[in-house]
Amino acid sequence: MSSAWAQHDIKTTPVFQRLKAYIDSVPAIDTHDHLRRFEDIPHRVRTPDGEGLTLYSIWQGSYYVWNHPLTPWPSSGQFSDWWAEAKHTFDDAHAASFYRYLLPAFKDLYQVDFDRITDAQATELNAKIFKNYQNDEWLREVITEKANIELMFIDPYWARLQFETAYPFAVPLLNVTTLMRGSHVSQFELASDNPYRYARKHRLKCDTFEEFLVVVEAIFEDAKKSGAICLKSTQAYQRTLRYEKITRDRAAEVFGKPKHEISFKEQQDFEDFMFWRVCELSAKYDLPFQIHTGQARIQGSNPMLLVDLIAANPKTKFILFHGGYPWIGETGVIAMRYSNVWVDSVWLPTLSYTMAKRAYQEWLEVMPSDRIMWGADTVQAEGIYGATEFTRRCIAEALAEKVLKGELLEKHANRIGKQVMRDNALKLFPSLHERLWKTKAVE
Ligand SMILES: [Zn+2]
Repeated sequence: MSSAWAQHDIKTTPVFQRLKAYIDSVPAIDTHDHLRRFEDIPHRVRTPDGEGLTLYSIWQGSYYVWNHPLTPWPSSGQFSDWWAEAKHTFDDAHAASFYRYLLPAFKDLYQVDFDRITDAQATELNAKIFKNYQNDEWLREVITEKANIELMFIDPYWARLQFETAYPFAVPLLNVTTLMRGSHVSQFELASDNPYRYARKHRLKCDTFEEFLVVVEAIFEDAKKSGAICLKSTQAYQRTLRYEKITRDRAAEVFGKPKHEISFKEQQDFEDFMFWRVCELSAKYDLPFQIHTGQARIQGSNPMLLVDLIAANPKTKFILFHGGYPWIGETGVIAMRYSNVWVDSVWLPTLSYTMAKRAYQEWLEVMPSDRIMWGADTVQAEGIYGATEFTRRCIAEALAEKVLKGELLEKHANRIGKQVMRDNALKLFPSLHERLWKTKAVE
């Protein structure tokens, strides 16, 4: 680090280091994660010491595999067989955020520099990971202490209509993604997603469209009673975010057609109607609406497609997820124009650290600082730690640049950092105050 270039790394400046230390000290409210029960943490494999999580499991459960190759776990179950091949699969990923966001986890939790990892270090790292996952204490320690997360919203896309939580720091929510597709029972593959099954279980009739709407509202009431804090839709993975205003009569007309009989247009009309209906229920039950925008089915996931709907539903609180990546400027102008819109930077630093830094800077220029939130959006301790550290670093870097350029006072930068990591979620979801456990005395 003797080169003059080191002077250009803002992370070496005292301003950055003070800001980062302060942001690290803020007990975070993570508005979006996918942490399953300990027994259900994905990608356990067979090893000579039994079934468990390995270094392979950590990478396989990361975003790295979305667009990079990873050697499958070998039938021998031997780490050395896997590593001999796998170590070369990272060659084209060294600058990728989908690779780099996990590096802080290896560095801070295991004291390993993954960019320079040796075979001996990899073997030791693998053994430590396996040992850490013998019980759920590792998750608790990493999430609540090392990543300093106080509360975590859990989006249970594997069991959408259930609201039980497996961890004391977990906050439940209602994932409405598949609910909105419910033109017919044949639209549902998973029993846990199925409102018709829910109706049977709760002895509600669900034969007519009117009855279906009653069942949907019963699910909202159940969610609210069970402590669900908001709604979440990930329809951007399946369809366009352009939701037309469709009449109730039209939705009733196509309701009841089995999946193989309903046309694409009819199903789309039904879902469009339901999305507007869910926006109304979001306001009625005071459940703000988290919507996946950006990176998904990119032909139709630009957040601009939601603007007419947002304008027509001023009582609904919309939360645009992932900063609409790559449409971060579009997301910014929507929040600038509509006071019922928040932006959530969840996943954004993991997608592109550079764009996330730019997003924080641009958004703070065009909207009040109480409108930005964050989330880690991953599945195990290492991913959550990595994404959280990456986010705290990115926000600190974005703010430190403004402080160094004389565009922001350091004390105001500190305040903004705390707002994004914590206070903005508490303000938008006031009932979270009852769930605080780290900081109760000072709130
Ligand atoms: Zn997610």
